[in-house]
Amino acid sequence: MKYRRALFIGRFQPLHNGHLHVIQRILQESEEIIIAVGSAQESYTLRNPLTVGERIEIIHDVLKMLNAIDRAYIVPIPDINENAVWPARVMEYCPKFDCVYSGNELVIMLFERFDIKTVRIQHIKRNLYQGKVIRERILRGLDYRDLVPEIVYKKLKQFGFDERIKRLVGMQNG
Ligand code: NAD
Repeated sequence: MKYRRALFIGRFQPLHNGHLHVIQRILQESEEIIIAVGSAQESYTLRNPLTVGERIEIIHDVLKMLNAIDRAYIVPIPDINENAVWPARVMEYCPKFDCVYSGNELVIMLFERFDIKTVRIQHIKRNLYQGKVIRERILRGLDYRDLVPEIVYKKLKQFGFDERIKRLVGMQNG
């Protein structure tokens, strides 16, 4: 294993096949994984429709599916107004980690400032595996089963995710 404990932070609105790919890679390269749920304070907006609790439930189910629950931590992280000190907040909320995997340039830049090892991930099928694409498909009345793990799809249906997004856009237009 290359790392003792690696951090993967995202909003997971919702968790899709691109996120799953990264989580599987980290589980191969690191003894333990921390999945940090960013923008934890956000919910019921078009950009961040799911609550932090719902996102934790989904991540928990995915980790169980991967038989990795005993090697994983799920930590909610609310945003703060000062980007430059945000990594310190992440470090306060999380168990110690020795590496951060991210494809988000800002996240990489901020952790580099704290001399934390970063691994830049390549986005796979970015035109499809993207929260925004899934949310837009719902608004266009299209299915998105092929973009998320089946276990996530079922959970989203259970949460009334599609209906929520349609109602949120209706409020915006009203
Ligand atoms: P996201 O869910 O969009 O992405 C999470 C991770 O998955 C990223 O590293 C991204 O590169 C990767 N990814 C996405 N699509 C992929 C694909 N198709 N294939 C492979 N990997 C893919 O979440 P995000 O917006 O990047 O999350 C960053 C979080 O950090 C946000 O919550 C943000 O608010 C927070 N943040 C907060 C501050 C602050 O509070 N000041 C500063 C910086 C970042």
